[in-house]
Parts: sequence; structure tokens; C-alpha cells
Amino acid sequence: MIAESLKKAGRQVGSPGYSRNLTLPVTRTIEHRPDCCAACRQSFADNTDYRPWNARFELELEIGNAESPKLQIEHSRHDYFSATCPCGHQTRAEPGRGADEDGWSVALSEWHLCGPRLVSFFGLSLIVPTGIAQQNPSLFARLAGNLPQHQHHQSMHS
Ligand SMILES: [Zn+2]
Repeated sequence: MIAESLKKAGRQVGSPGYSRNLTLPVTRTIEHRPDCCAACRQSFADNTDYRPWNARFELELEIGNAESPKLQIEHSRHDYFSATCPCGHQTRAEPGRGADEDGWSVALSEWHLCGPRLVSFFGLSLIVPTGIAQQNPSLFARLAGNLPQHQHHQSMHS
């Protein structure tokens, strides 16, 4: 029930995410380029003429680490590039298709506005007492499953 309402909310806000008014500053830009031709599997050369064809913005929750837990929204811009192979086929990098986006666990074919941690945050905010994120960010992060308790062990820091 919760997941369904979140998905609906995400769609309303996020589609099409790249055309809405943007007032938040972008904290980082991530570029996505296809490695090889989707038709003949030939790798693209270093001097390939990549062309931007789409972009999306992502809001994600940054939780810091065990020593300095924090709750902060990061605003990323994802640029997607296309390239044309010598065989004539045009290949586009697309959201949720790359190995660097394995964290996207739901409906990978869609364009999402919120990253997985932020979606968890919304989910948790429905079931934990109001204010716990501000009062105890470390506990909140563990609840969110992003800071396993064994990270506190000394061996993890070296
Ligand atoms: Zn090709």
C-alpha cells in the first residue's frame, strides 16, 4: 500500500522531470555514455562523437557515515549521451540500464525523480515517530538500512 502510493506520488512530481521548473542548485553532474553499439556490440572508440540527448534530475538523501552522520539532500543532474556506430546504428545511454545504477530497484524503465534512499526516507517517515530524523540521525540511518551496525567496528575503518 505504501509502495503503491509512493510510486504514484513519484510519477506526478517526476514526469517529465527534466521539463519542470528547477530552482535547487545542482550539487553534482553525472554523465552516462553507451560503451558499445547496441546493434553490433562494437565498442565505441575514445574519439566517439557523443551527443547529449536527455537529462534528468535526481534528489537523493545523503546520510554521511558512522563518524559524522548527517541528513542532507543531494541534487544530481544525470546527462545521457548517444553515439552513432560506423554500422549506422545510434545507441543511447538510458536511465536504469547502466551497471552504475544498480541501486535503482523499482521500475527501471521509468524516469525517477527520487533516489532509493530518499524513497526509503519517505517510507520511514510514515512509520517512525515524527522528529526522529533530526533528534537521532544515526539511529534513523540504521533504520533506513544504510548504515549497518558492523560499520562501527574498528576493522572497518582501516
Ligand atoms: Zn554498430
